[in-house]
Amino acid sequence: MPQTKSEIPQLTGYTCTLCRQHYPYLEEMLTCPQCGETGILDIDYDYDLIGRSLNRDSLRRDQDRSMWRYKALLPLEDRDYSDFLRIGWTPLYRSLRLVDELGIKGLYLKDDGLNPTASLKDRASGVAVAKALELGYDTISCSSTGNAASSCAGNAARAGLKTVIFVPERAPQGKLAQMLIFGARVVSVLGDYRETFNLSKAAIAKYGWYNRNAGINPVMAEGKKTVSLEIAEQLDFQPTDWVAVSVGDGCTIGGVYLGFRDLYQLGMIDRIPRILGIQSTGCSPFVDAARDGAHLKPSPENTLADSISVGVPRNPVKALRAVSASGGAWIAVPDQAILEAMRDMGAKEGVFGEPAGVTSYAGVRQAVAQGVIQRHETVTCICSGSGLKDVANALKAAGNPIRSRPDLEELERTGLFA
Ligand SMILES: *Cc1c(COP(=O)(O)O)cnc(C)c1O
Ligand SMILES: [Zn+2]
Repeated sequence: MPQTKSEIPQLTGYTCTLCRQHYPYLEEMLTCPQCGETGILDIDYDYDLIGRSLNRDSLRRDQDRSMWRYKALLPLEDRDYSDFLRIGWTPLYRSLRLVDELGIKGLYLKDDGLNPTASLKDRASGVAVAKALELGYDTISCSSTGNAASSCAGNAARAGLKTVIFVPERAPQGKLAQMLIFGARVVSVLGDYRETFNLSKAAIAKYGWYNRNAGINPVMAEGKKTVSLEIAEQLDFQPTDWVAVSVGDGCTIGGVYLGFRDLYQLGMIDRIPRILGIQSTGCSPFVDAARDGAHLKPSPENTLADSISVGVPRNPVKALRAVSASGGAWIAVPDQAILEAMRDMGAKEGVFGEPAGVTSYAGVRQAVAQGVIQRHETVTCICSGSGLKDVANALKAAGNPIRSRPDLEELERTGLFA
C-alpha cells in the first residue's frame, strides 16, 4: 500500500463489517481485501477533531442550506462544493392530518423528493461525484433500479463528468428520461436488477470507471446519512422516537443509522431513534430474514415500487445493523397499501411521493396498527423520491379525472359538485 499521507484528517480508517479488521486510511478502499466483494467497509472518523469545527453553534451560524453544511462528517477533502447542484436541506413537515388518523403523538414527513433530481439518492451521488473528482476520474458508472442512475447522471453532468448507466428494462419512463437528458450513456439491460448489477460490475472492472454502486462503495451510505443529520437538526437535536425508511439494497437505511450514530458520538443527541425498515411483501428479503432469524435469501422482485424491488440486496450488513443496533423493527406492506399511502400523503399532506417514497408511510401505518409503534410515540417518515418520476403508478393510485364537455350544465348533471 502506498504510504501517502491522508489529506482527509477527519477520516481515520476503515473497518470491515464482516471480519472487523481495521485498516488505516492510506488510500481509497472499496471493499475488504480479505473478505472480497461482500466485505463492505465502514468508514471511521475522528470525532474529537470533527467536534471542534462542527457543533450546534457552528451549525446555527452556517448559512449553507445544503448537505455540504455537514462536510466535516463526510469522507472528502475540505473543498468548496458551492458549484454542485443544491442537494439536501429538504423540508421536514409536521404532519397536520395523517398524525390524527394514525392517532400517534407526532409525525413528521421528510420530503427528499425535493432534491435536485428528485430523490434521496442525490445525497450519495453528490459525495460520489466529489470523490470521483478528487481521485481524478473522468467517468462514473453505476447500476440502478432508476433513481441512483438519474441522480448520478444529473450530478455528474453538473460536474462535467461522463456517466455510464446500467438499468433494468423495467425502469420507469420518468427516470429514464432524466438520465438521457443529463447526457448519460444508458444501457437498458434485458434482465432483472441482479443481472443488471452483474453486467455493470464486469464493465466497471474492464473499463476502470469510478464505481458508484451503492451496495459496495462505502462513501454512498456516508452521503445518505446527511438525511439523518438534517432530521436531527431540524428537530433541534430532539429526534423523534422512530424514523421510518423504505429499503431496497439497504444502503439508505444503513446511512440513516450512521447519521444518528455520528451525532450520538459527537454528543449532539442523547439517543438514537428506533429505525423502522419497510419493504413490499412482493420483495422482502430483509423482512423474511429478520422474521426467520436466518441469513438473507434471494427474493422475487415482484412489487410496483421499482426503487425497492431488489431481490438480492448488496448492503445487508449495514441495513440489518441499522435496525438491530437502534432497537427498531422490520415490516412488509402489500403493494395495495403503498398505493393507498401515495394517495393519502398527497391528498392529506400535499406531499407527492413515488411508490418507494411512500412505502415508509405505509409501513408506519401498519406498525401503529400492530402496536410496534405506540400511541405516545413520535415518528419521522422519510419520503425518499418524488411521485413525478412514476406517473403511471400515481394514476393507478389516484384514479381518473371527471370528464366533461366545456358546458356548465353538463358539469352540473354529473352531480359531483351539488
Ligand atoms: C433507492 C431508494 C430507496 C431504497 O434505498 P436502498 O439503499 O436501495 O435501500 C428507497 N426509496 C427510493 C425512492 C429510492 O430511490
Ligand atoms: Zn473483512
